[in-house]
Amino acid sequence: MSDLTRLTATEIAGLVATGETSAVEVTRAHLDRIAAVDEQVHAFLHVDTEGALAAARAVDERRAAGEELGPLAGVPVAVKDVLTTKGVPTTVGSKILEGWRPPYDATIVQRLRDAGTVMLGKTNMDEFAMGSSTEYSAYGPTRNPWDLDRIPGGSGGGSAAALAAYEAPLSIGSDTGGSIRQPGAVTGTVGAKPTYGGTSRYGLVAFSSSLDTPGPCARTVLDAALLHQVIGGHDPRDSTSIPAPVPDVVAAAKLGATGDLTGVKLGVVTEFTGEGAEPGVMAAFRESVDTLAKLGAEIVEVSCPHFRYALPAYYLIAPSECSSNLARFDGVRFGLRVGDDGNRSLEEVMSLTREAGFGPEVKRRIMIGTYALSSGYYDAYYGQAQKVRTLITRDFTAAFERVDALISPTTPFVAFPLGARTADPYQMYLADLFTIPTNLYGGPGISVPCGLSDGLPVGLQVMAPTMADDRMYRVAAALESVVGTFTPPAL
Ligand code: GLN
Repeated sequence: MSDLTRLTATEIAGLVATGETSAVEVTRAHLDRIAAVDEQVHAFLHVDTEGALAAARAVDERRAAGEELGPLAGVPVAVKDVLTTKGVPTTVGSKILEGWRPPYDATIVQRLRDAGTVMLGKTNMDEFAMGSSTEYSAYGPTRNPWDLDRIPGGSGGGSAAALAAYEAPLSIGSDTGGSIRQPGAVTGTVGAKPTYGGTSRYGLVAFSSSLDTPGPCARTVLDAALLHQVIGGHDPRDSTSIPAPVPDVVAAAKLGATGDLTGVKLGVVTEFTGEGAEPGVMAAFRESVDTLAKLGAEIVEVSCPHFRYALPAYYLIAPSECSSNLARFDGVRFGLRVGDDGNRSLEEVMSLTREAGFGPEVKRRIMIGTYALSSGYYDAYYGQAQKVRTLITRDFTAAFERVDALISPTTPFVAFPLGARTADPYQMYLADLFTIPTNLYGGPGISVPCGLSDGLPVGLQVMAPTMADDRMYRVAAALESVVGTFTPPAL
């Protein structure tokens, strides 16, 4: 393997800026790596070889012309297939959008281009970002580089696996209930969900609009922070975008890397007792709590009594919003159209298209959501879930009066074997037990590798108040300064 694929984004950007290597060389190394391993890993749904090389050449030309390059110029990045890319296929892991080439770039994609990063291609995901294993992709599962018979997490399993397999140093994910953090945890990589509204949803194919949050994935905390800085910040095209500057996540990651957490107060959630979690995950978590204490953090227990209702509330709110959002896939405006033979009614074509285009999990969510929103049930299900959401937000607000950030394991279990949880949707939903509260509240959360259990990576989650994304980077970087980064034994 070429050494260039082993470098961090920070290192690559440094070498490109000084001319020690070129963006084209870096890009070729990653494209070669993809060609060598992606048949096994299947992190990518589409590799944009020509587009990537053209972007890399443009960076090299700008450097040759003496232009100032941005902090990530020349760094390859893989983008979850949930974000629109102009002229480049965008499927959201679904057959219903097979062959669709969007006419515009998502704001995040535009910012990546403006920053001189090199988009390698689009990564695999559970259909419409619904899932925790990438097995619900209509294009076949992604495999975990730590063990090819295991899942890479989901829904952004492709983005996480691409990092762990050294196919890309950076990637973009989206997190509605844990889809950045849980794949990060089970692949030994870093995944950050920014504050809701801190990153633009313009061009993000909507799943649950009040929860969807795109964010950065990387192999190191500093790399994630650099990517966060590039993609974050106000976007007038997204009505829920926060009109404020991105918290200084890069400075916070650098501060954390000094390994000093003196004066930082961290809360361990009392209700996350470990019930339902693997002992090995809890052991790695507890060891990390001791490490954080040794770095100077004060650790206290904080009760968040409503967190136990987060999962059921999420599985009413997210499907409700999805049932509304996915109504736009009607066989007329985008992608797939089935049965349009001139004799069928619009309604029949719509129905045949949806029947063929959506997979079972997506259909299940649409049905649950439609039911929860139907008249007579609305108050009992959707309305009740919204009240729970408020109570969870109050738990966070009260907690953050006492502590700077909360910590927990990211996910209750390490990467499980392919097929182990597909028979029972509830078993799959449990993967997000610890990540969902943050989505309902709207705050930021990060997963950082904290150890191994049975040779498989475990992630620690740091949750911070809204618009205090910098705090979670500081804590995550401090932990990383002790435990280091994680590399799969094979591949
Ligand atoms: N696993 C959760 C779900 O299936 C979360 C998905 C996500 O964050 N996109 O809904």
